[in-house]
Amino acid sequence: MKIITTPDARLREKSEKVRKIDDEILGIIADMRKLSLDWEKGHPYELSAAMAAPQMGVNKRIIIIRDNMEDKKKASFTALINPEVIRAEGKVKYDYEGCLSVPSFYGLVPRASKVRVKAKLEDGTEVRIKATDELARTLLHEIDHLDGVLFIDHIKDKSDAFYVMNDKGELEPADYEKDVRNNTKLWGEEE
Ligand SMILES: [Zn+2]
Repeated sequence: MKIITTPDARLREKSEKVRKIDDEILGIIADMRKLSLDWEKGHPYELSAAMAAPQMGVNKRIIIIRDNMEDKKKASFTALINPEVIRAEGKVKYDYEGCLSVPSFYGLVPRASKVRVKAKLEDGTEVRIKATDELARTLLHEIDHLDGVLFIDHIKDKSDAFYVMNDKGELEPADYEKDVRNNTKLWGEEE
């Protein structure tokens, strides 16, 4: 298992619902937790906040969310199965997003600042989550993955919304015309 990156077509598929939480599904979740933490070891300035199953080429509706997004030493994740956005509301806010499957680039992405999400936990319990700000953003980003949508799609035509990280871990504006607009690594080949 490994993390796949753009322009891999599996990132663009609509994932299927999980019908039964069996050993296969639990194994997928275990692999997701492991891959997220492996990725973090190679990225000293970044925290692996969340991941969706399609990011390892498995098109099933499963995401994992880091329980503590501030402290890298706290490495537990909650898995959400068949997560659904029931409501997205509140002020639209802009903040930086990155993605394990979109190497090098970050974006200033507009998202609703309040969401309600319904999902199942690994043990089958139904949960409803009310989230704001960073957690709301993370949930929307990950649930997008299950529909084949990436954060770059929300800012595709915005020349000032793309950023790159320098070697000190700081974000700097990307050169949109040169590095973003026609970058086939991001968008794939035009048909
Ligand atoms: Zn992502």
